[in-house]
Amino acid sequence: MQIPILETNCGSDPQFEQFLNDLRKSHYTVQEEARKHQAELSGKDQVCLGPKFPVESFNYESELAQLTEDTLSDEELAKEMYSFFQGVARPQSELSLFNMVPEPMTTAIVGSCMATLYNVNSLMDAYGGKSLLIEQKVVRTIGKWIDWNESYGIACNGGKLTMLYAVKAAISKIAPDSQSKGIPDNLVVIANEGGHYCVEHVCSLLGIGTEKCLRGITDEYGKMDLKNLEHIMEIEIKKGNKIAAIICSGGTTINFFCDNTQKVADFVDEFVDKHKLDYRPHLHLDSVIGWIYFALLKKSNEEISNFKATDFVKNKLIETKNRFLGLATFDSFGVDFHKDGLCPYSSSFFVSKTADCFNLLNDGNYKYDSKDFDFEQFRAYRYTLENSKPSQGILSAWMVLKKIGSKGLIHYLTQLHETQYKIIKEMEKQGVFKVLNKCSLGWEVVFAIHFKKLAAESEDFNHDQAAMGFMQRCWDKVNRGEVFPLFSVVPDYRIDNDRNNTTTAFLIYPMQGNLSLSSITEILNTISNEVSLFEETVLKNKEELVTRIFEKPIR
Ligand SMILES: *Cc1c(COP(=O)(O)O)cnc(C)c1O
Repeated sequence: MQIPILETNCGSDPQFEQFLNDLRKSHYTVQEEARKHQAELSGKDQVCLGPKFPVESFNYESELAQLTEDTLSDEELAKEMYSFFQGVARPQSELSLFNMVPEPMTTAIVGSCMATLYNVNSLMDAYGGKSLLIEQKVVRTIGKWIDWNESYGIACNGGKLTMLYAVKAAISKIAPDSQSKGIPDNLVVIANEGGHYCVEHVCSLLGIGTEKCLRGITDEYGKMDLKNLEHIMEIEIKKGNKIAAIICSGGTTINFFCDNTQKVADFVDEFVDKHKLDYRPHLHLDSVIGWIYFALLKKSNEEISNFKATDFVKNKLIETKNRFLGLATFDSFGVDFHKDGLCPYSSSFFVSKTADCFNLLNDGNYKYDSKDFDFEQFRAYRYTLENSKPSQGILSAWMVLKKIGSKGLIHYLTQLHETQYKIIKEMEKQGVFKVLNKCSLGWEVVFAIHFKKLAAESEDFNHDQAAMGFMQRCWDKVNRGEVFPLFSVVPDYRIDNDRNNTTTAFLIYPMQGNLSLSSITEILNTISNEVSLFEETVLKNKEELVTRIFEKPIR
């Protein structure tokens, strides 16, 4: 009788080979389907893929009304896969300039795939093995960049969850009973006005309430105005409220709002002293973008000045680095490797200065001690939101750290800034665009288009409507699958961070470190040609927009 072989992993692995073949086939079929989809287009738009797989507009309800339950042959299945990708952006394209989404490094994708292949749940080492150790190694590596030599943390599904962990830990610290008895109703959280919009929702989810999430106004440099912060805090403590957390900005997608951590920490200490508070608000840095600059913290300003880069770029790197010098007395920060760490979604880490977060985040019935750090005792479920805990982000982040390390990340960051600099210079050469964010510490490009021909036609010209109309026209092109830049719009952009001076601006987010000057020139020429075509069409009354652009706004 033959002994059944349960697994063929003794050298050959036909199932894996099958997987590789299927993967290859799926990839090329999806691209082939996209090209078929683009057959109506002309020239290079027919054969090349644009920054998006093409898509027609649709209605969710009518699509769902047609849902069937048939099963498909392998051939059909590969094509069905394409239906998922319609309208999906391709970060592989040089023309993908919409948001902070990188083309992930191959090594990082392989890491993510390998974690999928073995279906690793990083909840307990009893079955997740050393994936839990690697998770802590990622956290500690970044922690050590800022001398948090005892940091621990949690891999999670996105920057929003890093914030959720931070605010939850803050609540437990300020109201130790809350873990078992529920939260008191006198807690507030204060965040930088320019910080991410998800803080309110996080406060709502945790029972603090949206209205108890207050925003400290920013100064013209994107830092919280500390006088205003003091004012807000004084009002709150007079009301008998407690400030559970202050969420500082460590860089945002537009304008890179970034607090001066040393100044905030000093201010908080003085405030606690002055008002004799019996607690210190939890200080969290939302550095899901800014974490990459931590890699610069061990470098002096002189060392950075010696980088092979333009002064414009080096000055920004130095300024941002210096804003992060005060992290010693912060409590936690967030990291998104899928933003600027060359990883696929989603690869976020909540990082706590100490292992105390494990106590603060559990259900109140467990206290961590040293035995919890032994193999087979380390149990993430006590403090995590998930029990099925994805491990893809852990392995991809680790692969990036081990392949390029802080040096490689600094190089990438410098390249991104250099690319922004080149785009700004090119834009200034052309008369069509006006760069609006030269003061930003980030590498995004926010710019205005003047629509001079349209403006010359009428005094009642509505610039914002024209800008939105132009944006829609560009997005329609990209949705058809055309090889046309995919960029974005910023309604009500505050010029020089002045709330009384806003405009509908455009946004280009370069994420490819090696975008060449010729590509940049071509991208900008393509956009400015389109501006001319748009103006011509509007002036010929062909676009329904024309009434909106030239009609007096209803007052
Ligand atoms: C992107 C972002 C978030 C949210 O992170 P996700 O990974 O999208 O969940 C929070 N804060 C800032 C500053 C961000 O840029």
